[in-house]
Amino acid sequence: MAAKQECDIIVIGAGSAAFEAAVAARQGGAGRVVMLEKAPEAEYGGNARYSGTGFRFVHDGAKEIRQFVPDTPDDLFATMQINPYTSEDFAADLQRMTGGRMDAALAKTLVAESNGAVHWMRESGIQWEPLREHALVDGKRYFERGIALHVAGGGIGQLQQWRGLAEKLGVEIRFESPVCGIIGDMRAVEGVRVAAREGSYDLHARGVIACSGGFQANPEMRARYLPGATDFVKVRGTRHDTGEVTRHLLELGARAAGHWQSGHMSPIDANSPDFETPQHEDGRGNTQSRYDYPFGISVNALGQRFFDEGEAQHSYTYAKTGRAVLAQPGARAYQIYDQKGLARLRYPHHVASFEEAGDIAELARKIGLEPAVLRDTVERFNAACPAAPAFDPRRLDGRATRGIEPPKSNWANPIDAPPYRAYPVTGGITFTFGGVQIDSHARVMNVADQPIRGLYASGDIVGLFFHNYPSFTGQTRNAVFSRLAGHHAARAN
Ligand SMILES: Cc1cc2nc3c(=O)[nH]c(=O)nc-3n(C[C@H](O)[C@H](O)[C@H](O)COP(=O)(O)OP(=O)(O)OC[C@H]3O[C@@H](n4cnc5c(N)ncnc54)[C@H](O)[C@@H]3O)c2cc1C
Repeated sequence: MAAKQECDIIVIGAGSAAFEAAVAARQGGAGRVVMLEKAPEAEYGGNARYSGTGFRFVHDGAKEIRQFVPDTPDDLFATMQINPYTSEDFAADLQRMTGGRMDAALAKTLVAESNGAVHWMRESGIQWEPLREHALVDGKRYFERGIALHVAGGGIGQLQQWRGLAEKLGVEIRFESPVCGIIGDMRAVEGVRVAAREGSYDLHARGVIACSGGFQANPEMRARYLPGATDFVKVRGTRHDTGEVTRHLLELGARAAGHWQSGHMSPIDANSPDFETPQHEDGRGNTQSRYDYPFGISVNALGQRFFDEGEAQHSYTYAKTGRAVLAQPGARAYQIYDQKGLARLRYPHHVASFEEAGDIAELARKIGLEPAVLRDTVERFNAACPAAPAFDPRRLDGRATRGIEPPKSNWANPIDAPPYRAYPVTGGITFTFGGVQIDSHARVMNVADQPIRGLYASGDIVGLFFHNYPSFTGQTRNAVFSRLAGHHAARAN
């Protein structure tokens, strides 16, 4: 029989959502808080370990952002053009990206609490840096609305900072401690079963906060829920997010929510590892992301374009573009740039695989495409590019192709300045959209639409998004709902 132990609050996982919940619970007055992490210590941190840790949140513009980056030199900060991002902007982005399907109350909470949650992180001691993603024009750095900051040191930096805070508050972290069952029923939860190396045991608590991520690293669940080529998809983040806690919660009677047949899938280097794509050494972004497609064209293995590369800024299209690539023959495509496009690349590509050539036919031969077809695709694309309006990377410039399918709706410049480059890409899965339903206190709801007493959830385990995703909302969602979960779990009777 399993041994029995007790604490005040259990947090399942040791990714960013989990650390935020544990810290919030202690700050809210919880007693002994125990985090249970499946991974060994060297691999803890879940997807956050690989994350760029950019945050999207409501703010008033440059003056407010300055509070987060006081060490940025004045002359550099003066070049940063950071416009306000209002509650209406964020709400409209969520509504548009999710096809209006996102739970209205949760969307409202996410928007309303985003500013407070990110300031809470800052006030708790988390350090920040300006984002690498901006358009540099005439010496000025133009940031997209809502996204100007990431946590210093990227994914690992964020984890180390949260771990330091958690340990200072006396939070206990148990590695190699997979949760293999939930004690309770659809009315109330009293603890979890842990399959520790030295033997299984039951850990009882007043509150359980589930932060165990999505199911993207589980091929059986991908094949069961996701469409098409996702059975063999490369996993951008941790190998440990295999969805068993989600399954336990559903078996208990938690209500399923979010888009179960979808997930965040973005274009990555086709030669990426199967799991756990590495970050840059400075923590500023992931080495395998290929998000500059708005400044070139993308073709499939048949040499044909297959989506509108200029529909909007990549932050509004990248999470679905990986799915578009996965739907192509061989789940592969090539991003083609000329020198004008290459000059615009915002993500450092020095570690990328690519081929370069002085003309398009030679480039086609190098990447194994039919030269006549690729040349025809490029010539037809070039002929469809307009003379006006002028190219402007700071905004949707309306420089749209005419008379070709699919169109390129913005930034349509001819591919005519050699040498040309082709970057091979595939779609990589970041996280899944299906999960459990929570309410605005981060309480998990049951199939009878009642909160399950003592059970909370935050992070990718929550079913929230549909179809698409505005970049950098995952980390903000974690901070918002983990803070609420920790706060309410600490105060609940
Ligand atoms: C390459 C990459 C870049 C990204 N960049 C950004 C970005 O810039 N901005 C942004 O907002 N989002 C970004 N994301 C997404 C973001 O990182 C995730 O949404 C977020 O990390 C999810 O947090 P989480 O705590 O819910 O899950 P995770 O961080 O994945 O943590 C889940 C934890 O639970 C553990 N676990 C799983 N099962 C069990 C079990 N049975 N028992 C105990 N523990 C268990 C796992 O080991 C893991 O440590 C990125 C993701 C990736 C992969």
